Amino acid sequence: MEHIDKTRLRRNDVIFIAALLAVVAIAGACLYFLRGEGNTVTVTVDGEVYATYSLAVDRVEDIHTGKDGLNRLVIKDGKAWVETASCPDGICAAHKPIHREGESIVCLPNKVVITVSTADSGNQPDIVV
Ligand SMILES: [Zn+2]
Repeated sequence: MEHIDKTRLRRNDVIFIAALLAVVAIAGACLYFLRGEGNTVTVTVDGEVYATYSLAVDRVEDIHTGKDGLNRLVIKDGKAWVETASCPDGICAAHKPIHREGESIVCLPNKVVITVSTADSGNQPDIVV
């Protein structure tokens, strides 16, 4: 009788620990995705802030730099990318869409930097697990 109880207890422990690990993993994943997703893009030209756009609003903006510099910024479905650019290397236009906090697209010839950030909205993320 005692032997069976011990086995049952051990099995319950294993289930409990497994459930706990699952909860921790899910919570961790939620935190990662909530924190990782930016909601704002900041465009700087030659180190100066040119404009700030919300990722929540679809738009197309032409960023004019210098004499004939142009980077066309597209924001769609919460992602931002450079559609066309006047620069010779085209690295910025080839960059994949950005949407995670801290991601950026850099256009060295035009001195344009587009960075995803998270605008302060109360500082407390609402997390419901
Ligand atoms: Zn470029």
